[in-house]
Amino acid sequence: MKYELETIPVWDGVKSGSECFLCDLMTQAEEHAVSFYLGSSVMNPETRVKVNEQGFCRAHFAKLVAAGKPQALALICDTYLARSRKLLAGPMEAIVSAKPGRKLDGAVRSFSSALESRERGCLVCDQMQGRLDRYCFTTAYLWGQDDDFRHALAESKGVCLPHLDALLVMSAQALDASHRADFCKALIDLTNRNLDRIAADVLWMTQKYKSENIDKPWNGCEDAHKRAVFKMVGQDRN
Ligand SMILES: [Zn+2]
Ligand SMILES: [Zn+2]
Repeated sequence: MKYELETIPVWDGVKSGSECFLCDLMTQAEEHAVSFYLGSSVMNPETRVKVNEQGFCRAHFAKLVAAGKPQALALICDTYLARSRKLLAGPMEAIVSAKPGRKLDGAVRSFSSALESRERGCLVCDQMQGRLDRYCFTTAYLWGQDDDFRHALAESKGVCLPHLDALLVMSAQALDASHRADFCKALIDLTNRNLDRIAADVLWMTQKYKSENIDKPWNGCEDAHKRAVFKMVGQDRN
């Protein structure tokens, strides 16, 4: 097995009735990763080294702040900031001592690239990607093994377009060539059926705002605009 199977969360997700069960699982994965880095791991020397070297993206530093664990985040910042200052000290010094003109341009460019490489990568994003890989692998694997799962997926609301892409790509690792082709076709069919549903709901929403339709029922389309965005780009976790 190339990836550890995550049978229970994937089965629960497929049966949940969500517009994208992988988005829901990613929301959970993000919460777990944020609480992991603010939990007892903050005292673990190996984790501290990883945090100091790699750190977090802007969105996940914001999540760490919002999580309300000031002591844990202060410990992270204490050493992460020290490491950042050490990495940026050379480029900063070069700016101060550069002659006006091309030397200064070069020194500023060095600072920009040092900062860019410092901000690259994120431990929370990495942990989430690891989980997404396992969930996508499990979905394709179960589809190949289990008729009940195949039916449950076909009757679900499917996934958002970015997670459709993730499933199509990962299926190469979980299924042989002919099963993969069938899986990909089934996913496209599932997605098109659900996009037809969303498109009809959005269309009715636009019609409902016309004065002649004011007394007609919403038919459950009050939130069609939100579901359409969710389906197109995935769930916003901020
Ligand atoms: Zn999604
Ligand atoms: Zn991140």
